[in-house]
Amino acid sequence: MKFLSEYRDQKAAERLSRAIWEKATRPWTIMEICGGQTHTIVKSGLEDLLPKDITLVHGPGCPVCVTPIELIDKAVAIAHRPEVIFCSFGDMLRVPGSAKSLFDAKAEGADVRIVYSPLDALKIAKQNPQREVVFFAVGFETTAPANAMAAWQADYDHIENFSLLVSHVLVPPAMEALLSSDKCVVQGFLAAGHVCTVMGYEEYFPIAERYQVPIVVTGFEPLDILEGILMTVSQLEEGRHEVENQYARATRREGNRPAQERIMQVFEVVNRQWRGLGEIAASGFQLRGRFQKHDANRRFPFNGVPAQESPECISGLILQGIKKPHECPAFAVKCTPENPLGAPMVSSEGACAAYYHYGRRQANDHQSNDRVQPELSGTQSR
Ligand code: SF4
Repeated sequence: MKFLSEYRDQKAAERLSRAIWEKATRPWTIMEICGGQTHTIVKSGLEDLLPKDITLVHGPGCPVCVTPIELIDKAVAIAHRPEVIFCSFGDMLRVPGSAKSLFDAKAEGADVRIVYSPLDALKIAKQNPQREVVFFAVGFETTAPANAMAAWQADYDHIENFSLLVSHVLVPPAMEALLSSDKCVVQGFLAAGHVCTVMGYEEYFPIAERYQVPIVVTGFEPLDILEGILMTVSQLEEGRHEVENQYARATRREGNRPAQERIMQVFEVVNRQWRGLGEIAASGFQLRGRFQKHDANRRFPFNGVPAQESPECISGLILQGIKKPHECPAFAVKCTPENPLGAPMVSSEGACAAYYHYGRRQANDHQSNDRVQPELSGTQSR
């Protein structure tokens, strides 16, 4: 397939849907890791093409959602410093901290700027040698190469007024943390294709083996996801627990070696705090060695008061696949994109935002298989 429209073809989607209906004989719960996949699923109504026994739950793969509230508070405090130009991707601005968001800080006069790349922030640092430019480096393995490159370039060009507030998190340790929880409901994973494009998928083999769980590296278009579900359901029905690659057009087993080398030159693996999930061992990056001079944590020590989450926000349960957004009592009532109580309502990859924007407001909006093609539902008894 060459064109994007081909990955959204309705007839092909119906064929994959039919294959899933024919394959599935029992209830299965499958987690898509990535918030981008969640948005495709909800926007395209893919759950309506599945047997009601196939439950899709939404994983922790939204970088904005899992950035700790303490770090939002720290970002706000740094942004308020008069010498600082604080640069961030746009969707971090409205994420609520304990008391304020970066957007509030901007409204109060802080110099907060939206950029589309860490290299844009580096350019701002070169253009403003009298100011301190800080880039909010959040994300999974996908954005790590560009952030590593920005730190490397700043070091190479001797740009002294540039630093990174790093909150990088890693997918495989989060999957292991979910699987080792006694509350785990996940029986199969759709692994995030873009993470594997960078890191490959060799790390997944021991996880699949240890937890006896199928892991299918999956892309982001509707047909990618339906095919990923079919591959996962096939494994589950056949009692297999293998790592398979649906996203072969972009992902190789070993990933992108030059990108991995740049990442490991600049970052080292550390324990990380995840919003809603707590600390996960060896689940994040921080700057290493000579690059630590570009670490905003060291440049701007911050002794904030302990951070306070909204007691009404159940995003931790949503990020573990235990609850769905519409099961949160605050969803679309006290919590809306205009007045978010938690990050998943404001992030462009947040599950709560997806449910809100695409009209999934009630439990019975899901898997109401009356929207399945008539010939599909007519062939099934469930
Ligand atoms: S709807 Fe709002 S309050 Fe509820 S889990 Fe989502 S972000 Fe948190």
